[in-house]
Amino acid sequence: MSVTRTMPTLQAENGMFLREIRELFAEFDPAKLGENMHAWIRELYPICRSITGEGVRETLRRMQRWLPLEIREVPSGTKVFDWVVPNEWNIRDAYVKGRTGERIIDFQKSNLHVVSYSVPFRGKLKLSELNQHLHSLPDRPDWIPYRTSYYKEGWGFCLAHEELLRLGDEEYDVCIDSTLQPGSLTYGEYVIPGSSEAEVLISTHICHPSLCNDNLSGIVVALQWAIHLKQLAKRRYTYRFVFIPGTIGAITWLAQNETSAVPRIRHGLVLSGVGDAGKLNYKKSRRGNAEVDRMLAHLLRHSEEDHTILDFSPYGYDERQYCSPGFNLPVGRLSRSIHGTFPQYHTSADDLDFVEPGALERSLRICLMFALTLEGNRTMVNMNPRCEPRLGRRGLYRAIGGQADAGAAEMAMLWVLNLSDGANSLLDVAERSNLPFAAIETAARMLEQHELLGDKAEGASA
Ligand SMILES: [Zn+2]
Repeated sequence: MSVTRTMPTLQAENGMFLREIRELFAEFDPAKLGENMHAWIRELYPICRSITGEGVRETLRRMQRWLPLEIREVPSGTKVFDWVVPNEWNIRDAYVKGRTGERIIDFQKSNLHVVSYSVPFRGKLKLSELNQHLHSLPDRPDWIPYRTSYYKEGWGFCLAHEELLRLGDEEYDVCIDSTLQPGSLTYGEYVIPGSSEAEVLISTHICHPSLCNDNLSGIVVALQWAIHLKQLAKRRYTYRFVFIPGTIGAITWLAQNETSAVPRIRHGLVLSGVGDAGKLNYKKSRRGNAEVDRMLAHLLRHSEEDHTILDFSPYGYDERQYCSPGFNLPVGRLSRSIHGTFPQYHTSADDLDFVEPGALERSLRICLMFALTLEGNRTMVNMNPRCEPRLGRRGLYRAIGGQADAGAAEMAMLWVLNLSDGANSLLDVAERSNLPFAAIETAARMLEQHELLGDKAEGASA
């Protein structure tokens, strides 16, 4: 990733990180990228996904048109730690018909109408019997809730509460044309090799039906992130993107990769709910002070995004599995509005309007900056550590960047020179100086060109 950069200003001029990102991706067009990701969401939105089944396969197959990911299948019954890969669920149709034969609840209109993993059912039921299988939201009478029954065999329908109130006391014709039988769990994986085997894991869930922020936003930001990263001429890290069913998918992936990929993971990020208009939230890994934790906190502090840094808790998305004590991987989570805290969560209102192209694109920018920062974070050694070197003689003093940049650039160089004793990484320098990492890294590269700074390994042998 060696490129000549101009010195970044302390305040981003072009909006959040755009200047840094454009130095590597000249064509970076925020409006186009946001709209592109939203178009992918629109294409994937109608598919009925669950933790297994054709919906996930179809989603991954469509994603292959945008990113040539591998589709992997793990047979039902495979033991994965304390869990077992479940039977595969598929659904063709489902409805509740009234006296007139008209569909009152219709899976063809919204896949949220059926409780995910509903077992096949066919029968005539009185309203009192049917009611035991109906779910609605009295507080949001026009929204359809999203419900699942993965590990308890049963069936049910979800509907708007106002529709439920309209059901008369009559006999209903109920049909759930589904199958639940041995098959497999499906997930997607895409690896972008780097010069080292050390890996960065990016994980997002793909198991929700027509819900946009919850699952589709993470999928499209991860896709676009991977497409950008593979364009880089050089990468230090190997990046592994996994698109998996929530919980059981992460458990399965960890069980299958325990001795292969897992030991190589140096950093990781779970993406979930990154497309709504809410502020960004970074949830720290269980370790709390991993490089990913410090880096995201640093980047968000120097971004223009309203944000919060959250401590780890054993509740949430797949960070729960990656951060279980037997793995304790340095994996944090990036989200916008936090699951369960906004009314649209797990309802039909998490729809195409709830996710915004601009929010998706700004989430992507944080992800790209995270990767660029990871790539650039090295530990350097001052080659001229006895007193300050003469920067003016080398054209480094009062000679860099535009007028407004000069002060910041010089401060960055002084900090890098002073703290580069082989013990501080460039992220340490950025944190201690409270300067943006990009400014510190650019200063380091400039000093390196003038042989005032060396890599830690070179410095030790010098
Ligand atoms: Zn969810």
